[in-house]
Amino acid sequence: MAKPILLTVDDDPDVLKAIERDLRSQYGADYRVISSDTPEGALQLLHGLKLRNDGVALLLADQRMPRMDGVGFLQQAREIFPGAKRALLTAYADTNAAISAINQANIDYFFMKPWDPPTENLYPPLNDLLDDWRATYRQGFQGIRVLGTRWSPRCYELRDFLARSHVPYQWIDVEGSANDPETKRLLDALGDDANELPVVLFPDGAKQLHSAPSDVAQKVGLRTRAETTFYDLAIVGGGPAGLAAAVYGASEGLHTVMVEREAPGGQAGMSSRIENYLGFPTGLSGGDLARRAVVQARRFGVEILAPQEVVSLRIEGPYRIVKLADDSEISCHALMIATGVQWRRLEAPGIDRLQGAGVYYGGGATEALSCKGENVYIVGGANSAGQAAMNFARYAERVIILVRGDSLSATMSQYLIDQIKGTPNIQLWTHASVAEVHGDTHLEEISVLCSDTGKTERVPSSAMFIFIGALPRTDWLDGTIERDDRGFILTGPDLMQGGQRPKGWAVERDPYLLETNVPGIFAVGDVRHGSVKRVASGVGEGSVAVQFIHQYLSKV
Ligand SMILES: Cc1cc2nc3c(=O)[nH]c(=O)nc-3n(C[C@H](O)[C@H](O)[C@H](O)COP(=O)(O)OP(=O)(O)OC[C@H]3O[C@@H](n4cnc5c(N)ncnc54)[C@H](O)[C@@H]3O)c2cc1C
Repeated sequence: MAKPILLTVDDDPDVLKAIERDLRSQYGADYRVISSDTPEGALQLLHGLKLRNDGVALLLADQRMPRMDGVGFLQQAREIFPGAKRALLTAYADTNAAISAINQANIDYFFMKPWDPPTENLYPPLNDLLDDWRATYRQGFQGIRVLGTRWSPRCYELRDFLARSHVPYQWIDVEGSANDPETKRLLDALGDDANELPVVLFPDGAKQLHSAPSDVAQKVGLRTRAETTFYDLAIVGGGPAGLAAAVYGASEGLHTVMVEREAPGGQAGMSSRIENYLGFPTGLSGGDLARRAVVQARRFGVEILAPQEVVSLRIEGPYRIVKLADDSEISCHALMIATGVQWRRLEAPGIDRLQGAGVYYGGGATEALSCKGENVYIVGGANSAGQAAMNFARYAERVIILVRGDSLSATMSQYLIDQIKGTPNIQLWTHASVAEVHGDTHLEEISVLCSDTGKTERVPSSAMFIFIGALPRTDWLDGTIERDDRGFILTGPDLMQGGQRPKGWAVERDPYLLETNVPGIFAVGDVRHGSVKRVASGVGEGSVAVQFIHQYLSKV
């Protein structure tokens, strides 16, 4: 725990030195003593301490100072740290001013100069004041604080990244808690910087304005740049398939790097409860699975770069070279593509404009708590939609699942259908599709087209989560890696046309299972043509592919 602060202000350097010395010798073990020779400087210090969420136990100010007297300073300081004990240092001539300040300006005590010996004239009353302060003091949150607004897409992106990267933080919704006095004080301390949301405050006093995931990632020690330029194995994508490949590759001695565009965990990281993964009879959340896998991968020495995106690929002889979004390059002998799939966009007026401000693709684990007492709409009828409905039902007043068909039976696992039926605040709306969404700064209403009646109904809602299937994003592989007409990567036997090896194939063997049309480049998990879209199969493919990589590397 950071030590609470005793702050003293005096324009006379000798007095300031003496009071500092006496405070430090008596209280230095439990408190941090800081000082300023001007009230203005002291107020600035207090703003900085507020941003760090430090505790201030005592403000001790000389009464006679130019420009601002001690009483004036203590009154302003009270606005910043109302709980701090306030005391004046006065000369004999100022006694009357000090007495009236006690009554008018809520000052707790005044000390006469000189205070020698401090054991008689300073410490006993200060001990009382500090005991009083300790009795009511509650230490503020000591980690990262993020200030923003609920409906800002930029704030949502940052919170989602922090949650999925397992970086603990405190969220302060500056609109939602606008009447909270502590939020007001924090905004005052920020001054004009409060307009640059999201603002991230770190316990060491650093602040980031208009912050983005990569800014925070660097500050908290998440790596976005590779340590070296060459690896045995580079993995693109940190979902279950990529993480499994990383763990197996590194544990078997391959110098391995994994590049992840958002946060490790992939789609699985958005799952509120995976109930069909072997070995977890009561299920586990995707976030938990990702966290465990990341710890495991790091333990084996995998270098994880996140958030960082791979934007292109080129081949130079035995080297496979990927370019990253920051223009740096990583070269490797074997490359694993495990980029999964991304949500399909819902085509309806208003959707793009309100994305991140009430309209979300995927789980929105970050949003679940904010939906307390609200009506939440889930679009889609697959397992991912069912899991999300169950998760939101714990917080929302009502969860409404919109599906085009007449039931969930063709698209959702029976165990989820049963759970949904047994949850009274989940409602299924069949033959329904989103025709339009409405709202100025955030989602306010949804127009739902009912295909059985042909009518459109407009319903109020502030949160809609879309789960309508997904497609791979593999454009960056154009011209190098063969894909099917939907962008899924062809591997192994799928590449053999009439018994012929793929065009340009230059080695004397058929492509290995999970190998693409370029030797040494493998594709695993959801991004692969014909893959089973499940966590276990992604993990299976990621680990199996490492065996083929060993065989490939033995001949490079
Ligand atoms: C909400 C939800 C619930 C689910 N529930 C279950 C369940 O209960 N059981 C089950 O078995 N399956 C479930 N699934 C499916 C399962 O999560 C997926 O099959 C699995 O995650 C696929 O793993 P993957 O590693 O192939 O791809 P993904 O999980 O999609 O991971 C791919 C990763 O690659 C990253 N990436 C993409 N392009 C780039 C690039 N160019 N550079 C860097 N990184 C990139 C992405 O950001 C992503 O993190 C669920 C899916 C969802 C969305």
